[in-house]
Amino acid sequence: MKKVTKLLAENKIRITKVRAEVLELFLISKIALSYNDLKKKLNSKYDKVTIYRTINKFLENKLIHEVPIPSGSQKYAFTETRDNNNECNHAHFICKKCGSIFCLNDVLLDNFQLPVKHKVSHITLTANGICDSCN
Ligand SMILES: [Zn+2]
Ligand SMILES: [Zn+2]
Repeated sequence: MKKVTKLLAENKIRITKVRAEVLELFLISKIALSYNDLKKKLNSKYDKVTIYRTINKFLENKLIHEVPIPSGSQKYAFTETRDNNNECNHAHFICKKCGSIFCLNDVLLDNFQLPVKHKVSHITLTANGICDSCN
């Protein structure tokens, strides 16, 4: 079975053409994608509502996650690693030159021991620099 078909089935998401195509884009992309990136890659085949509905469905099922960005339009990436609460738990890298955002799936933030009395629910960590292709 194709990976997208399997993922959709596992998450009990009914398979439609747009869902399969959008998920495939997230799977093959090395960087986080915005709505505009998706629209361009899909050659404007689907309307805005359809694409956003698909994004929201995947967010709901935690197949993708919102990446922390300092400004600009929201970007999303496929969730490869999750913590015990089923949340995305890895660090991200932002290229200062091209603005690409990469998931650092091996850099897990689960085991951070913070010396605070506050109850921490979520930690984000973003590294900034110049990416491989801009370097
Ligand atoms: Zn770059
Ligand atoms: Zn990520």
